[in-house]
Amino acid sequence: MSLAEIRNRIAQAERRAGRPEGSVTLVAVSKMQPLERVIETLEAGQRVFGENRVQEAAGKWPALRERFAGVELHLIGPLQTNKVRQALELFDVIQTLDRPKLARKLADEAQARGACPPLYVQVNTGEEPQKAGVAPAEADAFIAECRAMDLPLVGLMCIPPVNEEPAPHFALLRKIAERNGLSGLSMGMSDDFESAISLGATTVRVGSALFGPREAGGGSRPA
Ligand SMILES: *Cc1c(COP(=O)(O)O)cnc(C)c1O
Repeated sequence: MSLAEIRNRIAQAERRAGRPEGSVTLVAVSKMQPLERVIETLEAGQRVFGENRVQEAAGKWPALRERFAGVELHLIGPLQTNKVRQALELFDVIQTLDRPKLARKLADEAQARGACPPLYVQVNTGEEPQKAGVAPAEADAFIAECRAMDLPLVGLMCIPPVNEEPAPHFALLRKIAERNGLSGLSMGMSDDFESAISLGATTVRVGSALFGPREAGGGSRPA
């Protein structure tokens, strides 16, 4: 689907939900996509992108940023503490703050740099053991802990279980955000971004619907 079509579907979902046009940010998820498709999307005007691996992002985005001004790169995959410094060099937003150890490391590095990117706390709404994110019952305490470290939290992020209806997960994320005074909601992917918008998403993360299926194993890097 073209960028224009995705944007049009987002605009329609905003209208249906009675929300102002432009209230939802599209994060184009470029992980494991052919570089030509990413460049096409940049040429079509898209500037906000998401990557889920620090290493993969390091292999393509510094060069792309030289060609295209105004790129905003979001980390949407798990972050190891030993990659925090590199992640802070590469990313403008980190959506996957999910544990106290990572919060402390980010706070230390942010203090050393004198700046910290906007952060989303990832919530494991489905309480899946293999998935990152704080458990819903622990979210309030974790958010408070991050705030006590002066970390700039802007919202919450979730990835619902693949085989479940996503709407209840979106609704739960919104409830946790509201009671903690967080306005950002990163939820909704290729198959469910319209539902997420109807439930209050401010940021949707769309990969395959925009770029086509991902390349198996690793994805493309600039030669
Ligand atoms: C890959 C990924 C996406 C995009 O998934 P699609 O189904 O291709 O839209 C969104 N969010 C996260 C966290 C991802 O890892």
